[in-house]
Parts: sequence; structure tokens; C-alpha cells
Amino acid sequence: MINTLITTATGDWEVIIGLEVHTQVKSKTKLFSGAATSFAAEPNTKVSLVDAAMPGMLPVLNEVCLEQAVKTGLALNAQINLYSVFDRKNYFYADLPQGYQISQFYHPIVGEGYLDIDLADETTKRVRIERIHLEQDAGKSIHDVHPDKSLIDLNRCGTALMEIVTKPDMRSADEAMDFVKKLRLILRYLGSSDANMDEGSLRADVNVSVHRPGTPFGTRAEIKNVNSIRFIGQAIDYEVNRQITLLESGGAIDQETRLFDASTVTTRSMRSKEDAPDYRYFPDPDLLPVMLTQDYVNEIKGGLPELPGQKRARFMKDYGLSLYDATVLVSDMETPLYYEAVVTHLAKKDGAKMASNWVSGELFALLKEHNLSIVDSPIGPQQLAGLLNLIGEGQISGRTAKDVLEDMWQSGKEASVIVSEKGLVQMSDAGELEGIIDKVLGDNPQMVEQYRSGKDKLFGFFVGQVMKVTGGKANPQMTNDILKKKL
Ligand code: ADP
Ligand code: MG
Repeated sequence: MINTLITTATGDWEVIIGLEVHTQVKSKTKLFSGAATSFAAEPNTKVSLVDAAMPGMLPVLNEVCLEQAVKTGLALNAQINLYSVFDRKNYFYADLPQGYQISQFYHPIVGEGYLDIDLADETTKRVRIERIHLEQDAGKSIHDVHPDKSLIDLNRCGTALMEIVTKPDMRSADEAMDFVKKLRLILRYLGSSDANMDEGSLRADVNVSVHRPGTPFGTRAEIKNVNSIRFIGQAIDYEVNRQITLLESGGAIDQETRLFDASTVTTRSMRSKEDAPDYRYFPDPDLLPVMLTQDYVNEIKGGLPELPGQKRARFMKDYGLSLYDATVLVSDMETPLYYEAVVTHLAKKDGAKMASNWVSGELFALLKEHNLSIVDSPIGPQQLAGLLNLIGEGQISGRTAKDVLEDMWQSGKEASVIVSEKGLVQMSDAGELEGIIDKVLGDNPQMVEQYRSGKDKLFGFFVGQVMKVTGGKANPQMTNDILKKKL
């Protein structure tokens, strides 16, 4: 167990965190209308009469959104409710022409589930999911375009969101950040959301409180709409500090909604519990309850893709990778595909571990340097495997291979072509190497003397001499072995 308690002069504090994550459902059209969902379209070009709430318009549920929510629930080990209902959440705001948001309050589509997160000591921790419900997003008010008017863009209005609510199970900013990272990855593997925080398709309300261990939970503050993983961590750190300082100076925490300001890395009060609106939820009379069959749910379950956790476990088992290496490889959608394509082209299957090192080491470094993603890598998986096979066969050393990789990146040539053109094949002829080593030892009798009388460090000197004579091409392993034998 990792200790997450915060110790100050007055004793220990425990931090309690629960998240409400809003994520845009991946679907061509909106939750209740046929208007297209799209990021960065011309304002007010993706708005149907339903989205604009023209009189007499009726919502029609988009089945794709329903399926996406069920998929997400199943991937989070959650109860799928065969009966769910859409409710109206009533409030007035300019970006919400209906005057209410259609959401699911009393009977959400997904009930309790969980997601296991990784702790720094390689153990896992279970974060319970309370519920997932479907709801409409609102439009966007734009206040910074006109000096004395606010503009409205209704493109986002009516887009489907999933709200994923956790139990208050997280105990540190790290845990909350890991939860969101893991959740985001699962959503992407499922294809149920792009979960792109920059585009606002994933954002979190962060609930934070502190208390003395062994006493009831403290009063929480809810930080609204935090839209990056780093900001989630910063908002929690700031909030924990603020609350502890306030409590230690004899103050009390007000249950309130707060906003995170990224420019000052602080949170500030938006409204207190007393001002919280009463939404007067009631079942939307325009929509029938949603009734699913268990067969429908089972069919979706059968079609779930391999999820990141499962893929990671398989990589560890099949390829002998460490937890860390496997975690790095599965942390996006494309890298595991690339990696497995490399592995299938390896001459020796025991090279899978080496392939992992090369993908997440040398290749990632080149990609980062050139600001490319792995799908745009000029070196394809088969080419990389070709290079690794040359190492596996003892034709080139790992050191030489790094230079060859750079060359492949620049020239687009196959590894074997570069190696033969540049004469990089390493010297692996035992007889030839012995001759060279005999000469090196013969030329340096004093060094040999010193080495034999205990100056072990001189071993490196001899290796260096052999490499110098052979232009770096001596097989390092054989050089070591022969040198040891002769010395
Ligand atoms: P509401 O419906 O008023 O927003 P909920 O009880 O549904 O309140 O909780 C909303 C979120 O707040 C959940 O993610 C939950 O885990 C979290 N939460 C509840 N109590 C606490 C607490 N004392 N400290 C931190 N988070 C909390
Ligand atoms: Mg809430």
C-alpha cells in the first residue's frame, strides 16, 4: 500500500476524491436528432430544428449512442440496466434553447461497476463506478468576439454525452489522474468516445474533501469542468492545500462549486450549495422508457474489443514483457499494432523483449524528435524487424544498429542494404579476432601486467583497443570472451 496521507504539524489528513467525467459519445449524429456532430464546424451549421427547440419538434433516440453507453458500461465491469428513463433537468440558460437538458436522473442506463488503477508500487486499486448516464450537451456562449453582445453557437447543442460518476474512492491527485488516463484509454479502445480533452470531448468535475483518518468524510468542494489531466492534478493539489489551511485555522469548508483557473493554478468559488439550482427533474413525456433485452446486451458484450488491461496482460504473458514495458506499449491504440507487427517479422521469437525496448526506446525517441506519431513512422514494423534480425544473427552490434536506424530513418533503405553498403557487418570470426587480440596484448605488455596484478578496470582499455583496431566492428560478446580467456 502506498501512503497517501498528508502529515502537517497538527497530524494526518486523508484526501477524498470522487469524479464526474463527461465524455462526448462517438456518433455521427446527435442524441435525439439527425444533425451531425462535428468539432470545429462553422458556428450554427450543425443544428436541427430539434436542437434549436422549435415548437412541436420531438426527440428520437439515436440507437448508436445507446450502444456506446452499454459498451462503456460493460468495459467498466458495470451493471447494465435493462430499464432506463430519460428525465428533464430544468434550467434556463442562453445556450440551452429547450429550457431543459434531457438526462437520466432516476434510472440511468448503467449502474455500479469499477475500474482498477495502477499505483506506483505496481499494485492496483479498485475505483468503484457509481453510474453512467446519457445526456445532451448544451450549446456554447461566446463572450469574446463582440464588444457588447454575447454570441451563441448551437452546434454542440444536443450532442450525446456520457456522465461517468465514481464513488469517492480516490485518495490523491496521482490516483485521480491515473483514473482519468485509464478511462480515456478504455474509451478510445472501445471507440465509444474520442475522449480528446483539447477538443472538450472529455472533461471532469472533481469533488475534493479532506478529513482526519478514522473520522467521517469532510465537506466536499466540486471543481467544475476541468479539461486536462494535468489541470485535474493541479486543481486537487490546490484544493487540498486550501481546505487543510482553512480547517487548521479553525474555519469550516463550505459545500460549494468552484472553478479552476489554469493561468493562476488556483480554484475560486462559483456558487455555494444554498444557491444550487433545483432542477425539478421529471421523466421526459416525449420519450418512452428504454427497454433492453439481455440478448442485446450479451451481443454487445461478445463484440467488445481487447481492452488495454487485457492486452497488457497478454503482452506480459506471450512476450515476456515487464509490467512497465507492457504498459508503455498499450498506452495508445496504434503502438500495440505496430509492436505486434514487428514481432511477427522477427526471425527469433525470443527477440520480442528486445523489440519492445527498440520500439519504446529508439523509435519513440526518433518519432518525438520529428514530432510524428507512430502511424507516420518512415520506418515500418517490417523494416524495424529486419534491423533487429541482424542484431539477433550477430551481424551487427546494438551500438551499430542505433546508427543504422538513424540511417534508415533518413534514407528509407532497408537495414541489410545499409549494413552491406557501409560494410558494417561485425567481425565474428573467432580466429581473426584472436589474432587481433593477441596483437593488442602483445603491444601493451605493461597493461597486461597491471591487469593481472589486480587492476580489473583495465579490461575496458583492452576492449577499447580491439574496437579501435577493428573500427568498432568486433563482435562485443566474442571480444569479451576471448579477452577474458587470454588474460
Ligand atoms: P451530487 O449528486 O450532489 O453531485 P453525489 O453524492 O452524487 O452528489 O456525488 C457526486 C460526486 O462527489 C461523486 O463522484 C462522489 O464520489 C463525490 N463525493 C461524494 N462525497 C464526497 C466527499 N465527501 N469527498 C469527495 N468526493 C465526494
Ligand atoms: Mg454533481
